[in-house]
Amino acid sequence: MTETIAAPPKAKPIHHWIGGKTLPGTSGRSGPVWNPATGEQTGAVDFATPEEVGAAVKAAKEAFASWRAVSLARRAELFFRIRELVNEHRADIARFLTLEHGKVTSDALGEVARGLEVIEFACGIPTLLKGEYSEQASTGIDVYSIRQPLGVVAGITPFNFPAMVPMWMWAPAIACGNTFVLKPSEKDPSASVYTAELLKEAGLPDGVFNVVHGDKVAVDSILGHPDVSAVSFVGSTPIARYVYETGTQNGKRMQALGGAKNHMIVLPDADIEMAADAAVSAAYGSAGERCMAVSVVVAVGDVADPLIGAIQQRLPKVKVGPGLEPENEMGPLITREHRDKVASYLDTAAEQGATVVADGRELEVEGDGFFLGVSLIDEVTPEMDAYRDEIFGPVLSVVRAGTYDEAVKLVNENPYGNGTAIFTRDGGVARQFQFDAQAGMVGVNVPIPVPVAYYSFGGWKASLFGDRHIYGPEGIDFYTRGKVVTSRWPDPATSKVDLGFPQTR
Ligand code: NAD
Repeated sequence: MTETIAAPPKAKPIHHWIGGKTLPGTSGRSGPVWNPATGEQTGAVDFATPEEVGAAVKAAKEAFASWRAVSLARRAELFFRIRELVNEHRADIARFLTLEHGKVTSDALGEVARGLEVIEFACGIPTLLKGEYSEQASTGIDVYSIRQPLGVVAGITPFNFPAMVPMWMWAPAIACGNTFVLKPSEKDPSASVYTAELLKEAGLPDGVFNVVHGDKVAVDSILGHPDVSAVSFVGSTPIARYVYETGTQNGKRMQALGGAKNHMIVLPDADIEMAADAAVSAAYGSAGERCMAVSVVVAVGDVADPLIGAIQQRLPKVKVGPGLEPENEMGPLITREHRDKVASYLDTAAEQGATVVADGRELEVEGDGFFLGVSLIDEVTPEMDAYRDEIFGPVLSVVRAGTYDEAVKLVNENPYGNGTAIFTRDGGVARQFQFDAQAGMVGVNVPIPVPVAYYSFGGWKASLFGDRHIYGPEGIDFYTRGKVVTSRWPDPATSKVDLGFPQTR
């Protein structure tokens, strides 16, 4: 949890957004927002009190009655406007991401693009909310199903996708007719406030989208608020478990996506150059701070030595530096503490018997940013910390396995089950892997299989608590509840008193 410290004079205050306007916090508590590329504190984000969370929920509750009555045609029209505005301002959003998260501009633009896909999906809301209809289910009686919004729903999001993950939530939730309270990560909150401004500019009524910043106090206030019907959470596994359990105990519909340890299996028949390109891209993109990053390569049989050689060759070419400089491919980590923790795994791995093939601590970047170069560890085994923990940094572990079966066992015995991938030229083995793998998202020669917006995203095991994946069709299910209407229109000719149980004849 981010500590509260006195903000330096130049730090920009970052406020809540409630009922269509900015609202400075009153708690006197705030969290530092850093520029990870320079190590400077650039912002101080207000931490909400329970009363401020209550004000956001109240604004959302008041807006719900009229928002849910807005026709599907108008909602779709509004979402097309939102789509256009977000697209027009994609570079501005990306800039916030680079300045507060650190990811390089190309990666930040990619994040916005993937979020936009979910907004585009939400433009199809009239089709997505279609129900079913059975004419003459019984004589003169028709039955149909409809889906209705839940009311006020909330989203609690992680630092690593400050724009895209909130879009996974608010776009389908609002399109379904709900009103929304977002509690973004306190580490990089500006993109959320900027999004709120864009949504207002697009014509979204005040109160439909609100942002409260903060820490555990704000999260617990959301989870305990009687007027919040459902909560989507994305973050680390221990917090996901806590949020899921607390929310369900309070009677809320919950989905809580957690951490990951994604394995990429490389079989001896794989195209080694392609597999090495994929491993480097998926392990070090966004400095490894992606829940779908590949953190373990499982090299099967005699592919290990040539594969590690091919990966090693690529490492010196990865350009690490400030994200706003267009030539850079990898930026800093989110905070100094996180950078140091990630780096500590290199010592531990060596102590526990692994071979550090590339040590990112040797990289020097001018200034005081939270940089760490790319690291590669070979001869990693399942009991080592580097294997067991979600490191969430630019550290790739290689585990050597004798056979396909051994490799799959590793994937399936891992407590996480977010994504996994196999690299092979053998379609039969790839198909078997898709059948065997205990993970929610599987790639075949694709290292980061994040589903397109018209499918749903989510892991298995400790990577997801709840039974609904996020966005796509499951997102629409999550943010609505079903109602079935049985109807008969007056026909005096067939009307009579009948105390028997209704029968479909
Ligand atoms: P985090 O769990 O620390 O924080 C996530 C959210 O929970 C933040 O809004 C934070 O303010 C809040 N929070 C933190 N501590 C809390 C506490 N004690 N009580 C209540 N709320 C608390 O996660 P993070 O470090 O921001 O993000 C990185 C993690 O998110 C990684 O584990 C990553 O794998 C995971 N992640 C998962 C997915 C996915 O789709 N499965 C996607 C992105 C990130």
